[in-house]
Amino acid sequence: MRTLLPSSTIGIIGGGQLGMMTVREAHRMGYRTVIWDPDPDCPAARLADTVITSSFADPDAAKKLADASDVVTYEFENIDPGTVEVVEKLKPVFPGSRILRIARHRKNEKESLQRAGFPVVPHVSARNEKELDESIKRLGFPVVVKTVTAGYDGKGQSVLRTQADVTALCRSYAGRFPECVVERFLNLDREISVIAVRSGDGNVTTFPVIENEHRENILHVSRVPAGISEDLRTEAVGLGTAIIDHFDMVGVLCVEMFVTRERKLLVNELAPRPHNSGHFSLDACSLSQFEALVRCVCRLAVPLPRLLTPCAMVNLLGKHLERIDIEAASRIPGVKVHLYGKKRSEPKRKMGHVTILRPSAEEVEKIVREIEAMIGEDGGRTQPQSIRQSMPAV
Ligand code: ADP
Ligand code: MG
Repeated sequence: MRTLLPSSTIGIIGGGQLGMMTVREAHRMGYRTVIWDPDPDCPAARLADTVITSSFADPDAAKKLADASDVVTYEFENIDPGTVEVVEKLKPVFPGSRILRIARHRKNEKESLQRAGFPVVPHVSARNEKELDESIKRLGFPVVVKTVTAGYDGKGQSVLRTQADVTALCRSYAGRFPECVVERFLNLDREISVIAVRSGDGNVTTFPVIENEHRENILHVSRVPAGISEDLRTEAVGLGTAIIDHFDMVGVLCVEMFVTRERKLLVNELAPRPHNSGHFSLDACSLSQFEALVRCVCRLAVPLPRLLTPCAMVNLLGKHLERIDIEAASRIPGVKVHLYGKKRSEPKRKMGHVTILRPSAEEVEKIVREIEAMIGEDGGRTQPQSIRQSMPAV
């Protein structure tokens, strides 16, 4: 495929905040956009040049999107790969349906990674209560049970610590046990992610390694640079690069990783699209993950993203928006508030994020605490403070 120059049209399946931020970068670079999302009020709809408002099950809409676009991408995994194949027959799609088939299905994802020799969490699949019992016998409590599809932000996940938890979960399925992956629930040192970008000519670049703190299985804070040793950083970047190469993918791939207490890396999951943990790149890098995606799909070279300053990103969920005084937060030096303009708020729905840019990791951390106090997240800290203080300055 030849290089697509500005004024070409990029089609995006999905119009959530990731679509919205991709559209904004595409427009900044001079490209036109068309998005496909069933919700006319979705975040990207306000910005895109054209909006196709149809169900993702509508094959005519897939054709309409392909007709209107020079190249197509997607911003979430919960779409039928068959739909992407319909588009793929008509126009180039980056990344294509192959990686989608793998990444949208937790069992396929883990098995593909394992087959290729990449380290993953000990796991067993279960399709019914009996298999769940057997998997717990093999792995031992505690385990986390995850539905193989349609899970995100901790949805479709349950941590089981006792037999009573197992009984309660099975009862909640009410006879309709979904296919699940059962994983050993690990006592982690920390979580990190590597965002790898592979352009059409096969060149791979990576964003600085990100350290992620979750609350109730939802991303709460991302910190960059991650507070890990240089050896582990090199290993993580190597792993992210090897995985995107292995899947021969063109686009942006987030590799979520666990760091075990023994300082071993395990791949948690893959997201073949811009990722929540990469939002810091909009404000803190020479190139954002969204620009990187636009460059990949348009077959432009992707320069190495440079971190301009230590930073953190704090997610704003619905429950946080009810508390935070946006104006007061915006007045804190180094703070930038991003809101997605979603009409419907839910306690655990991602409604926006805050980026904090300061000259040192310690100063960033001070403001993270201030924002946490403003959103009511100042309790429940899960990581020892020493981890934070070990974050290097850039
Ligand atoms: P999602 O698609 O919802 O992001 P993940 O599998 O990434 O699903 O799980 C969300 C979070 O839950 C992880 O980032 C981690 O904090 C926690 N978690 C998931 N699996 C495990 C595990 N096996 N051991 C420890 N923590 C886990
Ligand atoms: Mg995850």
